[in-house]
Amino acid sequence: MFAFMSRLRDNDIWVIARSIIATMNEPIPNLDAILHQVGKPARYTGGEWNAVVKDWDGTGIKIALCFPDSYEIGMSNMAVPILYDLLNRQADVLAERVFAPWTDMEALMRQNSIPLYSLETKHPLKEFDIIGFSLGYELGYTNVLNMLDLAGIPVFAAERDDNCSLIIAGGSCTLNPEPLADFIDLFVIGDGEEVTKELVDCFRVWQVEGKPGGKTQLLRRLAAISGIYVPSLYHVEYQPGGTIKSITPVDKEVSPVVTRRMVCELPPPVTTTVVPYVEVTHDRGAIEIQRGCSCGCRFCQAGMIYRPVRERSHDEVMQTIEKIINDCGYDEVSLVSLNTSDYSGIHQLVNRIAREYPNLAVSLPSLRLDASAIKLLSFLPTRSKTGLTFAPEAGSVRLRRVINKNVTEENLLETAATAFERGWTTLKLYFMVGLPTETTEDVSDIVRLVEKVFAIGREASRRIPRVRISVATFVPKPHTPFQWVAQEPEASLNAKQEILQKALLHRKNISFSWNDPRTSLLEGALSRGDRRIGRVIYNAWKLGSKFDAWTEHFKFENWQRAFVDAGLTPDFYARRERPLDEVLPWSHIDAGVTTAFLKQEYASAVKGDITEDCRYQACNVCGLQRWQAGCWEKAAGK
Ligand code: SF4
Repeated sequence: MFAFMSRLRDNDIWVIARSIIATMNEPIPNLDAILHQVGKPARYTGGEWNAVVKDWDGTGIKIALCFPDSYEIGMSNMAVPILYDLLNRQADVLAERVFAPWTDMEALMRQNSIPLYSLETKHPLKEFDIIGFSLGYELGYTNVLNMLDLAGIPVFAAERDDNCSLIIAGGSCTLNPEPLADFIDLFVIGDGEEVTKELVDCFRVWQVEGKPGGKTQLLRRLAAISGIYVPSLYHVEYQPGGTIKSITPVDKEVSPVVTRRMVCELPPPVTTTVVPYVEVTHDRGAIEIQRGCSCGCRFCQAGMIYRPVRERSHDEVMQTIEKIINDCGYDEVSLVSLNTSDYSGIHQLVNRIAREYPNLAVSLPSLRLDASAIKLLSFLPTRSKTGLTFAPEAGSVRLRRVINKNVTEENLLETAATAFERGWTTLKLYFMVGLPTETTEDVSDIVRLVEKVFAIGREASRRIPRVRISVATFVPKPHTPFQWVAQEPEASLNAKQEILQKALLHRKNISFSWNDPRTSLLEGALSRGDRRIGRVIYNAWKLGSKFDAWTEHFKFENWQRAFVDAGLTPDFYARRERPLDEVLPWSHIDAGVTTAFLKQEYASAVKGDITEDCRYQACNVCGLQRWQAGCWEKAAGK
């Protein structure tokens, strides 16, 4: 039933929107007057099923959960519902959602002096005590500034006084928080569940005590909580050549290193997620079956910053499915994890789901590229048989060894054959170009592999298969074995893409997409940037940049100008090889995986040596062994 509601036309939405707004003594006048002028007005109405609306005046702590992109993207994010549920379960706390308004809505809001507001009670953002941003990709940074500005909040932390809300941020991008240090009061680094509670508890005490010492005192107290980074309490010194000399705390009370928070056990899953009115990117129920991955792919930041692996039990997953169906009405669920194939007993679980919910569509993202994946998928009801996606990442065996993607060509071809034989008609393959040590021969190997898959498809399915090829540009990320390497220059990237375009473009039943190297350059500079990048982000935003992750909105010329005006270059951050002893902008953030382990992995990459998955082999001593031992003791002590 509820799934039907998300298919309502704009006009129906408009009728509902008016009725919702009419019932609310909404603090945002004129909203009614503009909603019919924008696309998808339901992005801005709130009132969805399972939305939590609390008594504004009767609730002590007010928290806005902001996602710096559109409603459709934000509502598909896993972190927002977890924090929304966790915070709203506290009697004296209300948490409300705020997404970046699309450009048509923003223009009308600015014209009508309508400040950015929350969906639940339509309160202006600046009336919240705490404003939290979820940061999952760097190209959303200008939206953070734009949302603060649209809310009438000074974008620079240094320009905000004690009456201003506390601006915080979490998410994978905070493993290098420096590029946003000028704008964010504090960063939550790592798993958010436990530290968010500690943050709210600390805020509550400060509030009850009458806010002694203002925000300065509050930030000091919060900085004492493990996993919280307050950039204003650290001083960055630079070498004459522009690299970092040191990042030091302003005094002895402040810890020189901030350690990533990790939960030993995954908290109870969220089952009463807000059901959107408009179709969103991932329009289904989602269950995080495990967090972390230990495959050890050397380009993958998630594999390093979310380890170690923590699983939910089969029973917990089954109970969650039951609740999600009852509470949200979804007829499709996604079993979310970084590497679903490695979840313990995944075949038994999928079989059990198919048996107990024969009509439920199940999506299984991130399957390992081997025949076990096909066996898994064959348990699912036919309508779950949507396109199949695998990520060989590199065309040659040699390069896959460099990136520690332990997949053989036989694996890929056998899996493809099985898939086509079992009735799949479309196969999507992800590759990257610009990987360390990559040659044009390796790139040609991508074409050779695609040709083989296509031929197998024809053979196995006795009809013309569809093969979709997506080739991303490799962007080195902090806290990975490749954090020191230089990103490939545009000219050689273009030459490699030309090899692929020549062979794969305009081919019947083969679709080919690739990244614009300029977007990847920007992503590279923002992800490995230091604190000075803040000025670049500010300049680009002032020049009109926002929604940079959307091709139609990406304005590279703004960023070129922004770097020049800041006296910096993107190449310094993205295309410069770093010596292994250089002080990196994120060196004061301890992700748990040690620098020694990353250097060892980098050396293994250059030699083309594989590091086995510690899930099935011995521990690779990545640095988390002490922390893991602590969890086992905790579990044993229960
Ligand atoms: S400490 Fe060992 S077992 Fe744990 S994630 Fe690291 S390598 Fe794997």
